[in-house]
Amino acid sequence: MNGKCPLCDWPDAELTYGEFGRSVMAKCLRCGQFNATEDALHKIKQTKDIHKLWAHLRERAERREPELEITATNLQTIMDNLPSYSTNEKQLLLLRAIEKRTSYPGEEVTMDSEKDFPLAWAKKSAEFGFLTESLKDRGLISRLDAYGVHVTITANGWDYLDKHEIQPDTDQVFVAMWFSDETGEMKNVYEEGIKKAVNETGYKPIRMDELLHVEPINAKMISEIKNSKFVVAEVTGERQNVYFEAGYAMALNKPVIFCAKKHKKIHFDTQMFPHIIWEELEELKDRLCDTICAVIGKKQKTKV
Ligand SMILES: [Zn+2]
Repeated sequence: MNGKCPLCDWPDAELTYGEFGRSVMAKCLRCGQFNATEDALHKIKQTKDIHKLWAHLRERAERREPELEITATNLQTIMDNLPSYSTNEKQLLLLRAIEKRTSYPGEEVTMDSEKDFPLAWAKKSAEFGFLTESLKDRGLISRLDAYGVHVTITANGWDYLDKHEIQPDTDQVFVAMWFSDETGEMKNVYEEGIKKAVNETGYKPIRMDELLHVEPINAKMISEIKNSKFVVAEVTGERQNVYFEAGYAMALNKPVIFCAKKHKKIHFDTQMFPHIIWEELEELKDRLCDTICAVIGKKQKTKV
């Protein structure tokens, strides 16, 4: 049967009720697909930032992922793991959504601000309106309003899309370094220097040899770099994989902070980038901490 979406109130959702009406499976044009228990729906009504859940479900539907099971037990975990996007990032998400609907350059695409605002992780249609207007002001789309919002990606918009990857809102930091030196010195460099500095600034370091994985190491490494906010590359020991990982991150526009122990040779190709040259581990920790604060900023608690 069709009826009001129990999550976002869209008037025309496809609803299938489970046994005794204790759960409902919904297909909604605004907030995607989900299977929610009655308890979960009751809890959702008191949940802050519910629009983020709409956006998340809609994103899954766009990617044709199976509907999400929402229960009273997993609701909080789902909510806690939803990203927070800046206004700029929301504009980029919207531009990506328009791109997805464009089958040839110059095509006019119709967006419905009431139905499609979750595509931009907007709270409501008014925010969606602002975001489309901003894209127009920045020359990334041209816009014509009649019924709905008719938009076309401009040449500048295509250029912008080429240059911008959506950066995940994450506290993960990828550490590229040599781990298997015989003296075990590098382990201390990680534990006493890098790990402490990263933790102190509110981020979580990840290193490849700490991960249990079954995938080929390169595929895992590539996905972990993609999922990281920035990379710390400790080049002492001049390992090729460290340069490869740093280079890959730079190609993705991720900030890379280079460090090296004093008197150790720095590879010719990275000499042009600033390095934290350290002698003592304490010094590495303090200077890395300062650099992270300056270049990236301390990890802020997500605003509610
Ligand atoms: Zn809905």
